[in-house]
Amino acid sequence: MNDRDKPGHDAVSWPGPIPTGGMNGTRKVHVKSYGCQMNVYDSHRMADMLAPAGYAETARLEDADLIILNTCHIREKASEKIYSELGRIRDLKRDAARTGRRITVAVAGCVAQAEGKEIIRRAQAVDLVVGSQNYHRLPELLARTARGERVVDTEFPVEDKFDLLAAPARDAIRARGVSAFVTVQEGCDKFCTFCVVPYTRGTEVSRSVAAIVAEVERLAAAGVREVTLIGQNVNAYHGAGAQGRPATLAHLLHRVAEIPGIARLRYTTSHPRDVDDTLIAAHRELPSLMPHLHLPVQSGSDRILAAMNRRHTRADYLAIVARLRAARPDIAFSSDFIVGFPGESEEDFRATLALVDEVGLAGAYSFAFSPRLGTPAAVMPDQVPKAVKTERVRILQAAVARSQAAFNAQFLGRTFDVLFEKPGRLPGQIVGRSPYLQPIPVMAPRALIGEVAAVTVTEIGTSMFGTLAQATPVAAASRVPELAPILTPIHAQAGG
Ligand code: SF4
Repeated sequence: MNDRDKPGHDAVSWPGPIPTGGMNGTRKVHVKSYGCQMNVYDSHRMADMLAPAGYAETARLEDADLIILNTCHIREKASEKIYSELGRIRDLKRDAARTGRRITVAVAGCVAQAEGKEIIRRAQAVDLVVGSQNYHRLPELLARTARGERVVDTEFPVEDKFDLLAAPARDAIRARGVSAFVTVQEGCDKFCTFCVVPYTRGTEVSRSVAAIVAEVERLAAAGVREVTLIGQNVNAYHGAGAQGRPATLAHLLHRVAEIPGIARLRYTTSHPRDVDDTLIAAHRELPSLMPHLHLPVQSGSDRILAAMNRRHTRADYLAIVARLRAARPDIAFSSDFIVGFPGESEEDFRATLALVDEVGLAGAYSFAFSPRLGTPAAVMPDQVPKAVKTERVRILQAAVARSQAAFNAQFLGRTFDVLFEKPGRLPGQIVGRSPYLQPIPVMAPRALIGEVAAVTVTEIGTSMFGTLAQATPVAAASRVPELAPILTPIHAQAGG
């Protein structure tokens, strides 16, 4: 598809003149990420792109010389929230200017893609609007803002950003932890009637197997142990493999599983239509592919699924779940639901509720339908009243919580492998994740961070607690208040 496989494609040239300087000759960039893991990944890559020009990341917006808002367009009123944030940044920028300090403000991501010039018109503080396919151009775009230009770059470019992005430094990789996301695919061709992704992220594009393998090898060399391959519709992956022939996601998973140091593999977010035989077989064949799959269904009613243009039925979904369970009996499923889609009747909603128990979901995200400008569902008749949607979401979330509690309860007294990720809140405590992404605090030496160790689950309530297998039980004082959500969806009201 492209020449990402060429050696040196990560090399970055810095066109300048972007002023460097400030304290210790280093400028600071704050990238604020909204939404999904794909935006978190993009934010990291933007920071990596800016590092060669002497930009160090800062967690404090007030300290930054460059502020980038990496936006998400999925949630309701996403643009208005960004404009309100830009109002606060305008005041910060004005105060800094009084002391002779220049702050550059950029808006990136899906709101930038959707709103373009409108952001420059409405928000005086903004110097740069950069679309989600263009952030590899940040150096040249910032050079133009340094010359006083206000720049908008939201065209889908001819070149591929992944060919031109800077590789993350080893220290940056280590600081981001032992579990990493790697974008392997972007965009979507499915056009579900409620979703903006095909318009904001464009058509499906996949990176080559070789480029992804090279990136994961670099991560593994820096200490990463778990990789989640991500894409808006990740199992539509069709990147160039051997001799340039398109490879499937299953092929990619097999290849990444061979990389020394990578103990765990995951992928998200998937569309049921793109779960093929090879992917099902990969769940049987690859021990490092974790037995947990986020598989959005959106509705349990065939009538609503058709109106959503999901291109699968309830029976199709259940058949896929059954086939995956046959391949990997310990696999667990989580999902996404949209409640109150136009025309959704009580009967349709009850079909959705029933699906939660029928699958035995380990978790799910549920959202009330809210219209997105420019999507077919926004102008459909029979919009469901807000109060009805709110009540249905409440009922569905209660059903999901019961299903999740039942799923968690089965682990009491059982032992499973945990990948330890970080220190816990208490001295002597570290926190890891189970194969099902449940966070588990354990009293154990810090040296185990980055390792996979067997943990016995000793208590389950709103939180899960454990001990190293054959170790002293965890003291009650080491409890953390609640279980974190099982995962963050790639796109909250749009889901693969
Ligand atoms: S919901 Fe998922 S599959 Fe449907 S259009 Fe959006 S990104 Fe594509």
